[in-house]
Amino acid sequence: MFNMEVVEPVRLDLNTGFKFRCHKDIKCFTRCCSNIDIMLTPYDVLRLKNRLKMSSEEFLEKYTFSKIDEKSSHPYVYLKMNKDEKRSCPFVSFPEGCAIYTDRPVSCRYYPIGQATLKKQKDNEIVHEEFYFFVREPHCLGYEEDTEWTVESWRAEQEASLYDEMNREWKSILMRRDIPGKAQLDPQKQTQFYMASYDLDKFRRFVFDSKFLDVFNIDEEEIKKLKDNEISLMNFGFRYLKYVLMMEESLKVKPEVLEAKKAKK
Ligand code: SF4
Ligand code: SF4
Repeated sequence: MFNMEVVEPVRLDLNTGFKFRCHKDIKCFTRCCSNIDIMLTPYDVLRLKNRLKMSSEEFLEKYTFSKIDEKSSHPYVYLKMNKDEKRSCPFVSFPEGCAIYTDRPVSCRYYPIGQATLKKQKDNEIVHEEFYFFVREPHCLGYEEDTEWTVESWRAEQEASLYDEMNREWKSILMRRDIPGKAQLDPQKQTQFYMASYDLDKFRRFVFDSKFLDVFNIDEEEIKKLKDNEISLMNFGFRYLKYVLMMEESLKVKPEVLEAKKAKK
């Protein structure tokens, strides 16, 4: 998240061109890795915990803190900065730079571009439109360099497009905050939101070691995928979230469970 004073109030599209280059010999190298708030996405957490060979619980405990967003009541996760004067990122060092570079979070990939999503009505349908903006911090000298980009080529070079693809479904869930009359999440729902968004290893245990599969109708092929593939499990977490937040009937309760419930009444 950026201080709004450094956000250029011009909306960019994928074809907008700019000149920029960041490299180890630039005077400001690593200046952008201090005194910042980095909000993590589910795919950021997945990549980082695997990079550091930690469980999601260990990673979240050691490297992050969570904060309830006032407007939406969603719990969001942020990278815990060092407690030094500069509030530097735990992964930065000088002159080496980012120690987890190939798995760095999506907001670091985008920088000095920022990205936001807008909800719009189009032909009776709600669509989510992504747009971009420049972040111009006085210490960043990369804008004085000559390498030419478009927003699209920058995203591709930084692998930000892959991260966007992985997080798109989750971001669409965040948009519930704009639905009029949507209730704030209670503490139980906030815990479910946190687990399904970030704590993948705990979510795996929730699916496989609780009565979850006795209650919901999930076919064998999908169960196998969820066991074998973390991306499938992460996406299933988003489906579960839509169900618990009552956005869609994205999961079906088994008919025999419904029958048993009716019989009890
Ligand atoms: S994760 Fe890497 S690129 Fe991002 S702030 Fe930390 S050191 Fe810098
Ligand atoms: S401040 Fe700008 S140019 Fe300098 S290291 Fe960070 S992104 Fe690169």
